[in-house]
Amino acid sequence: MKAILKLEKCFYCDTEITHSAMQKDHFPIPARHGGKETVPCCIACHDMKDRYLLQSWPSEWWQDVLLDWPKMSRATRIYFAKMGTLFLDYVLTKKKKNESKTTL
Ligand SMILES: [Zn+2]
Repeated sequence: MKAILKLEKCFYCDTEITHSAMQKDHFPIPARHGGKETVPCCIACHDMKDRYLLQSWPSEWWQDVLLDWPKMSRATRIYFAKMGTLFLDYVLTKKKKNESKTTL
């Protein structure tokens, strides 16, 4: 009898993954912020999203982002622009807090 293999698609790359290899990524709200909803994803995408700091991304990944820009809708471009602003606000706020700690 042939075993039936149930496949899921990675939310980020659409690769088909077996249920046993599937990871659960907390999306859209990260677990550390109380998010409960998850999407199926492969380990490579989960690593890329949660285990690499954005500032440590290799240049090839940034190049892919820039190449995708013309294909994005207006709303998606604005969404990413807002995310960039939030990211910089966060980084600069964190940097200021660290500077004030060292001067005390
Ligand atoms: Zn993936």
